[in-house]
Amino acid sequence: MDSNKLREQDFLLASISQLSISGSASPPVVARFRPDSLLFAYESDSDDAVQFDLSNCQLYKLGPAQSLCMSEASNTSEEKSYSRGITIEFRNEEESRAFHCAFEKWKKEVVIEGSCLPNEMASSSASKFDDKIEESSAKMYFHYYGQLLHQQNMMQDYVRTGSYYAAVLENRTDFTNRVVVDVGAGSGILSLFAAQAGAKHVYAVEASDMADYARKLISGNPSLSERITVIKGKVEEVELPEKADILISEPMGTLLINERMLESYIIARDRFLVPKGKMFPTIGRIHMAPFSDEYLYIEIANKALFWQQQNYYGVNLTPLHGTAFQGYFSQPVVDAFDPRLLVAPAISHVIDFTSAKEEDLYEFDIPLKFVSSTGTRVHGLACWFDVLFGGSTVQRWLTTAPGAPVTHWYQLRCVLAQPIYVMPGQEIMGRLHMVAHKAQSYTLNLTLSAKMWGPGAEQGGILQTSYGKLDLKEPYYRMSQPQAYPMSQDQQPIQLLQTQDLQIESHDEEGSDLLQQSV
Ligand code: SAH
Repeated sequence: MDSNKLREQDFLLASISQLSISGSASPPVVARFRPDSLLFAYESDSDDAVQFDLSNCQLYKLGPAQSLCMSEASNTSEEKSYSRGITIEFRNEEESRAFHCAFEKWKKEVVIEGSCLPNEMASSSASKFDDKIEESSAKMYFHYYGQLLHQQNMMQDYVRTGSYYAAVLENRTDFTNRVVVDVGAGSGILSLFAAQAGAKHVYAVEASDMADYARKLISGNPSLSERITVIKGKVEEVELPEKADILISEPMGTLLINERMLESYIIARDRFLVPKGKMFPTIGRIHMAPFSDEYLYIEIANKALFWQQQNYYGVNLTPLHGTAFQGYFSQPVVDAFDPRLLVAPAISHVIDFTSAKEEDLYEFDIPLKFVSSTGTRVHGLACWFDVLFGGSTVQRWLTTAPGAPVTHWYQLRCVLAQPIYVMPGQEIMGRLHMVAHKAQSYTLNLTLSAKMWGPGAEQGGILQTSYGKLDLKEPYYRMSQPQAYPMSQDQQPIQLLQTQDLQIESHDEEGSDLLQQSV
């Protein structure tokens, strides 16, 4: 088609509604492109037409068949402001795409055949998400979150959901009359909490098909639904009609960083949050401490025993024993363990979501230094995390620490194929180096060393160093078996957790509570 020939073009739509007026579907409605203008009119009533100047209006995709058309007000300040907007419901995805193509053509008055790709976003360049994440990983990831059972699993983690509920409602002043963006809204539960706390408007952004269920759930709660708009798409790609005063999100994976969603949370901050806006959660901390767990070590080492058979149906399996042994130790163990297994007080690494750069999360290095409280064999590094909701009224922590009520994140342990021996008071040094990969997770490189003890110590040499490379994407979920942790003769109950913000006792009684919970 030649642009010189463009005179007029009509699109039949399902409905349109003026922004923030909900439920005003009155079909049929036509969108008409004319040179310089875009007109929306009800076929029956041409007086009620809405006209946009093509030179200063923008079209944003809110979902597969939903878009937003906004006209810019005069450019007085540096920031663009928008004076008027309507949401458009197309009859189907295909017609939405065709409309977006036509919009681009009419706006530019240049026709480039084949320029409209099926997934093209009206306003964005290449997506940051697509650049760094493998397509197959993203597909599986959003398929997983598109299923209600997985959303239910998170909702039923009452420590998690209850902490969010309390953090939002205790800090009503941070939400009342504020614009909120829910980053990765899932079922929409956090958007509904924000609306309960008096939010002026909540934009619930969700990339998976769960967005459709979220719409259904939200519209079934009419007192809240008119203040919530569900937008289907990635936070890296969608456009929002206004900036947010506060972001709410639950982007935490195992070890805090698994799934690489913290990066999306930070991108959402940079794209949508007003300067000095609030973030719920505000900071996250990864806690780490060496542990001793003979049972776990033997369990993992024994998994490879199968490959030590020399006559498996007449076949010698031993050539693969070493590979299998390494393979089992490359899986981080996810379960709830007794905090008495820790052999030194934990150290922590803080990530401030309000100031961190997205690139900071691509790779980071945590130096480790502990002093052993006991003489034992150290089998690796135990890790857990917490996040802070830095509200104006109440500062609330959500913790996944061992000994605290168990969450669906449990804790994570990196087990070393070669344990190291330590004496009471001995220093354990090391490094945890984490590198993000394209499958939405991290490679963990763990080194632990214990300095020489006894007669040779003065020479300052390092006696033992143990190294492990683990893939956070392939954890060993160990929660199903009951775990008994009888005290070994040389292990004394010790208080090892840092308890700045939570009181965790390690009495025998509480230990038995924990055993019951983790069964
Ligand atoms: N907020 C919900 C769901 C949390 S799970 C709750 O607290 O119950 C995280 C959700 O974020 C998933 O539904 C996932 O599909 C979504 N998500 C992850 N990355 C995203 C991205 N880049 N853009 C939009 N949604 C994303």
